[in-house]
Amino acid sequence: MYRTKAYSVSSATSPLARTTIERRDPTPHDIQIEILFCGICHSDLHQARSEWSGMPTVYPCVPGHEIVGRVMKVGSAVASFKPGDLVGVGCLVDADGTCSECRSHHEQFCAKAVYTYNSPDKHTGKVTYGGYSESIVVDERFALRPPKNLDLAGVAPLLCAGITTWSPLRRQGVGKGKKVGVVGLGGLGHMGVKLAHALGAHVAVFTTSPAKKEDALRLGAHEVVVSRNANEMTKHAGSFDMILDTVSAVHDLHPYLHALKRDGNLTLVGAPDKPHAVSALGLIFGNKSLSGSLIGGIQPTQEMLDFCGEHGITADVEVIPIQKVNEAYERLLRSDVKYRFSIDMASLKGE
Ligand code: NAP
Ligand code: ZN
Repeated sequence: MYRTKAYSVSSATSPLARTTIERRDPTPHDIQIEILFCGICHSDLHQARSEWSGMPTVYPCVPGHEIVGRVMKVGSAVASFKPGDLVGVGCLVDADGTCSECRSHHEQFCAKAVYTYNSPDKHTGKVTYGGYSESIVVDERFALRPPKNLDLAGVAPLLCAGITTWSPLRRQGVGKGKKVGVVGLGGLGHMGVKLAHALGAHVAVFTTSPAKKEDALRLGAHEVVVSRNANEMTKHAGSFDMILDTVSAVHDLHPYLHALKRDGNLTLVGAPDKPHAVSALGLIFGNKSLSGSLIGGIQPTQEMLDFCGEHGITADVEVIPIQKVNEAYERLLRSDVKYRFSIDMASLKGE
């Protein structure tokens, strides 16, 4: 074991604070990574404050699952990475690798999946600790290769916000000739817009923030709908093939079901702490479907990274030092981020 600096929360109501944690020394299949940047996902905030009743948080908790770093050391059996390589780590750090979910590249659904933080850690007997830290050790099968041509601070958020929006867009066959809506222009939403645009779809953003209109167009939306304006919403009735809902709080889904075409799909990726109400009739009339989507497996994550490399896509980031992380959480709650915070982990070195 070795000790490394991190920021953790010690209860649902405490702020993040500087701490020291223990990590394992690399075993034969592990790589040890110096973390350069870590994005701040709204899931970090939900988890830090133990807002998901089905997934209670074990304290202390070190959040962070949008990690970009450089390999420091590799285990004796590691074949695919060497010291100095750039790597990415997303929400997953282990799975059994043999079950049907793993074999079909859905490691997130493996019964033995280990999440990057707040998951039982067989090596330490505690829980896994995430990327708000100087370094991390992961099995090489869970390390991704970021494209070399992209800005690293903006690549970090691709590891969660990128893959979480990419998966359902691909599953729904989004591309040329499809009209796609993205609800909520935050970290996930702005990646959904960029990816759907690059896939060739006609993209509309639904936002509660009229001030984000110009940015939405710059990011690749063809139209922007202020969702609190009922008139604007009804103009789009029956017109969307798919709507991707990234909102982090409970809200009315029916205006979005109403905006779908016959056979259209509303996919929820936003994960509020409380349940949404859904009218069966809202789905029945028009043969509409409502689905959910959880991050994505390792192979699709690499495909998304390669696609972003080809299309020059990164997240729009506000780079912050780790010392501003509590302020960043408060801003995230106010939907005041353009459009992802990315922590420059060099800021932790001096502490
Ligand atoms: P975020 O940056 O905070 O973005 C959420 C956006 O939702 C806000 O920018 C805002 O957009 C909109 N919004 C917020 N409160 C709202 C309200 N009360 N009513 C309507 N709209 C509201 O968060 P994020 O990091 O993108 O994450 C979004 C959600 O996805 C979180 O719940 C997170 O836990 C979840 N998530 C799920 C997965 C998965 O695998 N399914 C993966 C990662 C994250 P406007 O200002 O444009 O309205
Ligand atoms: Zn996330």
